Amino acid sequence: MKIETDSLQSFIDTQSIWQTLEKAAQPDQLLVRETLAKASEQKGLSLFDAAVLLENQNVELDAEIFSMARQVKQAIYGNRVVLFAPLYISNECGNQCTYCAFSTLNSELKRKTLTAEEIRREVEVLENSGQKRLLLVYGEHPRLDARWIADTVATVYDTLSDKSGSIRRVNVNCAPLDVEGFSLLHEAQIGTYQCFQETYHESTYKQLHLKGNKTNFLWRLHAMHRAQEAGIDDVGIGALFGLYDHRFELLAMLAHAQELEEKWGAGPHTISFPRLEPAQGAEISVAPPYGISDYTFKKIVAITRLAAPYTGLIMSTRESAELRNELLQLGISQLSAASRTYPGAYSDPTWDRPDSQQFCIEDHRSLDEVVFELVQQGLMPSWCTACYRKNRTGEHFMNMAKEGFIKNFCHPNAVLTFNEYLNDYASAKTVAVGKEHIASQLETGSEQIKDHFGKLLIRMDSGERDLYL
Ligand code: SAM
Ligand code: SF4
Repeated sequence: MKIETDSLQSFIDTQSIWQTLEKAAQPDQLLVRETLAKASEQKGLSLFDAAVLLENQNVELDAEIFSMARQVKQAIYGNRVVLFAPLYISNECGNQCTYCAFSTLNSELKRKTLTAEEIRREVEVLENSGQKRLLLVYGEHPRLDARWIADTVATVYDTLSDKSGSIRRVNVNCAPLDVEGFSLLHEAQIGTYQCFQETYHESTYKQLHLKGNKTNFLWRLHAMHRAQEAGIDDVGIGALFGLYDHRFELLAMLAHAQELEEKWGAGPHTISFPRLEPAQGAEISVAPPYGISDYTFKKIVAITRLAAPYTGLIMSTRESAELRNELLQLGISQLSAASRTYPGAYSDPTWDRPDSQQFCIEDHRSLDEVVFELVQQGLMPSWCTACYRKNRTGEHFMNMAKEGFIKNFCHPNAVLTFNEYLNDYASAKTVAVGKEHIASQLETGSEQIKDHFGKLLIRMDSGERDLYL
């Protein structure tokens, strides 16, 4: 892979972001309320609007921001929550990211790259627990090139468990590739390509990345442009909160989303909010230089929901079950569940080994426990992959999402996948609450959709699988 950045320029205007934050400082109540009225139109927010909400210090107005995020999420997504699990394929890495246990700085880490056979074993365990969507995660190593990554994706899709299990969407989080490399991933039919900028603040980025390809800020910043050029039109962005001033990171991340929307007709498919967790051999991760409180974290999520109403917002198991439950009410629409963060962990009987994992996780619930609690909160677990399999992606997806499509298609499809989960994998306790939950959800969508949907549910209960609208 040849890294060429001579012609690239940063679209993150550092000075302008600071000026925007300065201009929005100590906003008066009227301005905050006007901004919230704008947010209620569900058309997104400018960087200045987002800064106004972030800079607001009035607790009662913050409560209104949280309430508006809840309303916008409910109006666009209803009660669906998409579930997935990460699958670590390799922790071999040639980079020195000062916050990550996979960095070459960590000589204690047991390095491991899964063979095809080991990948299959992991996938079977995940399938037998009910997972249908995976995010494959890789370190960056010269030996592990794009062709090899594409082969691992094919292995995952090819692995079918005895219990009707199959992985229907493989998303990928790997180091940025060149256009040729991304084309190979596109041919391998990945869903979303995900890559976090870590920090959008260039000089901080340079201080934190000491060796390897990842030292190149511009190469990473333009990763999504190259992915789009190669035909991958679902891309996922994020910043690693704790590395730099969260106010700057939020505005820069929104600027990244706007840049993608302008260039490619659709913003990012997803935005993630990784927050720095303790990692072996990475001192900075134990005492993050710009650590943020849970309250500030909630504000970041809520404002992102208002600024990018149609973008999937992802929360990982880095956060505790309690906080994740709260964040679901503030705009999160996708959750990872029952995650393990090292290669081979799902089939490792003595799992939870700090000498192999990338970072500590906070939410240790099983998938069934997560599902049970979602239902208790009136939410609808979803493993739906229909849009991607019907080519409703990128700009096409975003346009439909804006026309009430989600209520007619996404919701019934979510219920169908949930019913499949209950029939095949759930505990008796989850089946009891889940079937009741489904019965209470049948009244959505047009008459035609309801009729079609009801027939699909009956077919599924008679043994058919993988049915969707
Ligand atoms: N190696 C690839 C890269 O760096 O882009 C992809 C995989 S990397 C394992 C996935 C993400 O983990 C990184 O982008 C980073 O945001 C996150 N991460 C690294 N160290 C972390 C830590 N200590 N706590 C929380 N997240 C961390
Ligand atoms: Fe390697 Fe990614 Fe960890 Fe950096 S964040 S050390 S590139 S695995």
